[in-house]
Amino acid sequence: MHNPDPDVTLVTPTAPVSAPTHGGRAKCLQRLVRLDLPVPRTVALSFDTVQGIAQGSMPDIETILAEFPEDALLCVRPSSEDPDWGGPGAMLNIGMNDARFADLSEKIGPVGAARLYKRFILAYAAHVARLDPDLFDDLEGYGPDRLEQALAAYEDEAEEAFPQSTAVQLAEVLRSMARAWGGTTARLLREAKGAPVDAGLGLVVQEMALGVGQAECGSGVLQLVNSDTGLPQITGRYLSQSQGREALSEPEAIYLERDARGASLEELAPEAFDALKRHAALMREKLREEMQIEFTIDNGALYILDGVRVRRSARAALRIAVRLANDGIITRQEALMRVEPRALSELLHRQVDIAAARDRLGRGINASPGAATGKIVFSANAAQASAARGEACVLVRRETSPEDIRGMHAASAVLTERGGITSHAAVIGRGIGLPCVVGAARMRFQIRRGVLTAEDGRTFREGDVITIDGTNGEVLAGAPPMVEAELGENFKTFMAWADAERDIGIRANADTPADAKTARNFDAQGIGLCRTEHMFFEADRLTVMREMIFADAPDDRRSALQQLLPMQRDDFTELFRIMQGQPVCIRLFDPPLHEFLPSDRAGLRDLAESLDLPVSDVTRRVEAMGEYNPMLGMRGVRLGITVPEIYDMQVRAIFEATIEASRDGDPVVPEVMIPLVSASREVELVRKRIDAVAAAVKAERQTEFDYRLGVMVETPRACLRAADIAAHAQFLSFGTNDLTQMTYGLSRDDAGRFMSEYVHQGVFLEDPFHLLDTEGVGELLSLGVERGRKARPDITLSICGEHGGNPESIAYCRQVGVDYVSCSPFRVPVARLAAAQLAI
Ligand code: PEP
Ligand code: MG
Repeated sequence: MHNPDPDVTLVTPTAPVSAPTHGGRAKCLQRLVRLDLPVPRTVALSFDTVQGIAQGSMPDIETILAEFPEDALLCVRPSSEDPDWGGPGAMLNIGMNDARFADLSEKIGPVGAARLYKRFILAYAAHVARLDPDLFDDLEGYGPDRLEQALAAYEDEAEEAFPQSTAVQLAEVLRSMARAWGGTTARLLREAKGAPVDAGLGLVVQEMALGVGQAECGSGVLQLVNSDTGLPQITGRYLSQSQGREALSEPEAIYLERDARGASLEELAPEAFDALKRHAALMREKLREEMQIEFTIDNGALYILDGVRVRRSARAALRIAVRLANDGIITRQEALMRVEPRALSELLHRQVDIAAARDRLGRGINASPGAATGKIVFSANAAQASAARGEACVLVRRETSPEDIRGMHAASAVLTERGGITSHAAVIGRGIGLPCVVGAARMRFQIRRGVLTAEDGRTFREGDVITIDGTNGEVLAGAPPMVEAELGENFKTFMAWADAERDIGIRANADTPADAKTARNFDAQGIGLCRTEHMFFEADRLTVMREMIFADAPDDRRSALQQLLPMQRDDFTELFRIMQGQPVCIRLFDPPLHEFLPSDRAGLRDLAESLDLPVSDVTRRVEAMGEYNPMLGMRGVRLGITVPEIYDMQVRAIFEATIEASRDGDPVVPEVMIPLVSASREVELVRKRIDAVAAAVKAERQTEFDYRLGVMVETPRACLRAADIAAHAQFLSFGTNDLTQMTYGLSRDDAGRFMSEYVHQGVFLEDPFHLLDTEGVGELLSLGVERGRKARPDITLSICGEHGGNPESIAYCRQVGVDYVSCSPFRVPVARLAAAQLAI
């Protein structure tokens, strides 16, 4: 039949149907038609046509109807460009009226016919005439008397008889579906899934295979994989005498494949089942995707009504992509593009089962992914005691400080009231793969009283069990079921494919041997940032550290540092050995010294005891070391220049460890990095001392070694003066945490308080500590890269702020020309995949 209207297109193998003009469903149906599958006759209406309908210009309905047999029943389904964007629900059985009812009563019996008619009346009343659905509450069942009552109720409420003309019914259905797309809820829902504001809706009108009748009739849904695991498994249900997706919700639906648990389609209708399996396999191969198939059996004959991409968990997505590539159906590159990098972090940690009920106590920032359950503890000591008893615990603090690190290691998860995405708890949590929610400010934290109050007022005490879902940023009551982390062969294969594609390096930020091992397990290409200060919080070291801080004269200081030297040397030797010759970039001491001093009375007393000084003396000294703004005070290279003995000790430890680790393994070329630089003279001064220590160690040990010296660019001035700085540095690593803090004048530790309000009101598109601000911080970064590279073309450039694990930020860094990014060990796989996708 010739169709004169170009926007109303009969779906044939050659019809001009495309996803951007008619939507994904229309395009998919055309593909199925091309495969010669038994697809009922289908007409596609374009986005323009549907938009016209919403605005009052209806295409010629007779033209549409002319494409179908006169007595056909029709259904209409939405066809948005991306099926995930949703759309109005399908309308079935259009064309049902008194005459068709009489006709069908003879063919399939009055009960079956009444059922189709009544279901159509109910759907039409609710979605098209918009009548109150309660109207039909008393009319359960499908007997012909019920049908009459339904018609009467419709007429009563709508003040007109139920429309009998198929043309009127179809026109009204099209109009209501076209208008539903413009509704606020539908718009917000699809925009949340990434649809553009002007996303279009197409509609497909399809002849119905009834699924209700005398011989075997029914409908069902089938897919060839398990959506949770991604393993091959015929999954779905079939229900005799049903339509649409009823089989998925009705308990009497049967299995598809022969199954010990009950009846199956394979036994009921073996030929149809066989054909269905064949069609499904063909669809997988030719549509190059795992599809969920909607099918109907009508008088023994099989029809394929629709196919949609199988919904899948993160681990299923990975497995499906690998299997499709291994089967030669898609290329490896396509497989890589099909997995969302962030979804990988779900595989690396245990997660709350998505099917589990969630009893939510509060919400905060999802600072470190994964989920863990444990008993509440309110102090680092209690966490360690709990770990010693072998009991999992959740460390609950207002915020964490370096003193909590051992408690964090002992805990299964961390929850804080304050802090943002780069707060102490968040950075450490991500570094060690500990689920962490920070900034849960709507919950009440009474740490001293030992009470945690949920957003809804329920109170929890030490020992009560809660669960931290660091993936979603939620705090849950009790112990919901979990799904285990998964790092099988598929994961390895997939990541190897990613590495073959990417063109920037990926290193890990790793402070401890455990971090370094994780980094190696995830195939990081070295350590891009080792924050040495974390090494000083072990109990035995903290005391020596404090002695060093309290020393009055350089000699006393040197003697304390002399005790720290072998400990640091052992730390570095171990790191070098674990990394087996891969580059290790060690950042010299960065934080303000007073972070190492006690803040409470008991701590001051302990310190006074170990230093053999009166408490009042110690208190006075601690107070004197206080700074108004420590993050902009005496830290980083400023400390390195004013108290040079600390850096001297650290570089000596690095060089001695280099000799030690190179003795029995690959030669080590350590990278030494100076933090918080803002002027090239700082680098010159520190460099001179480092070179002198290197020369001394070489002479003492009669051994040669190489080392690389670099600068951490994390102040705006360092970016602007990158050319002068590059003259003294073999590498520059951009510390985008501090750079963001200083560019915005935004405290890393306090921004959590107003960040969500700022994002909510659109001041910031996203938390700039999480997503690199390409306009401001990014401009400084790119200036730094450009000036540094120009001054010294062979310089190595990298970033090591938290942004290094964020796919969008990685894209920006690659674009401006950094050589590698360095991120928390558990984000290394995410970064590897994101980098591969950028290169494809
Ligand atoms: C940074 O500032 O970006 C950085 C990596 O260092 P830190 O987070 O230790 O200040
Ligand atoms: Mg920094």
